[in-house]
Amino acid sequence: MKFKNALKIFNYPTRICKVCFESIKLKTFSDIFISDDTCTKCFNRREPKFYKFKIKNYDGLSLYDYDDEIKKLIYQFKGCYDIELKNTFLSKYAPLLNLMYVGYYVVFVPSYVDEDKIRGFNHVKEMFSIMNLKTIDLLCKTDNYKQSDQNIQNRINISNYLTLTQQLDLRKKNILLVDDILTTGNTIYSCIELLEKCHPHKIKILTIAKTIKSNDNFQSKYEEKMSFLDSFSKKLHCFTKKILSGKNK
Ligand SMILES: [Zn+2]
Repeated sequence: MKFKNALKIFNYPTRICKVCFESIKLKTFSDIFISDDTCTKCFNRREPKFYKFKIKNYDGLSLYDYDDEIKKLIYQFKGCYDIELKNTFLSKYAPLLNLMYVGYYVVFVPSYVDEDKIRGFNHVKEMFSIMNLKTIDLLCKTDNYKQSDQNIQNRINISNYLTLTQQLDLRKKNILLVDDILTTGNTIYSCIELLEKCHPHKIKILTIAKTIKSNDNFQSKYEEKMSFLDSFSKKLHCFTKKILSGKNK
């Protein structure tokens, strides 16, 4: 039995790309299990870089350069309140990232609460909601201070607007600090200083995009991991095809 026909039998719904509104063609069985809202054409326009960086000696990872494509998408999501785009940033990488950060608790870099109210959602929480990790609400921004509006001298004052919402003992917990865009790194630095007061076992950082330059590139390691996942999903696809065609009888 063909894969396409099998989908019909199970009445599998047609998926629509949330970026271009074209229907998404499912090619392999494993595609069903990858919650993806982006068609291959739109996905291929983005170039994942998987940049490694360090802030305060903690390891960080950024998926994309903050290029025109990502800038446009983040603006549509965050600035035009298009919540339907929330899964398009991480969807393809969520299984891999879940493996990489298994056991970690996600802490979000906060935005000003009134901004979230106007938008109707917290954009960082929504972007990372596709990852199956537990979260802790730990940080809060007390004023509508925008890093991008400040000159270099004023930027160091971001720590004045960030605070812990609760005093927790995190000695047995690993923390993954997440944000949408890494710019100067000052906000993340200040968040880490606050997190350190709770003594977490480990801290790692993950952002969707970055604007600062980094020479350290994670591309090859990422490709290694993706090819492993690829071969696994191909095996799963062959196995399922056999079952569907009854060849295993
Ligand atoms: Zn598309």
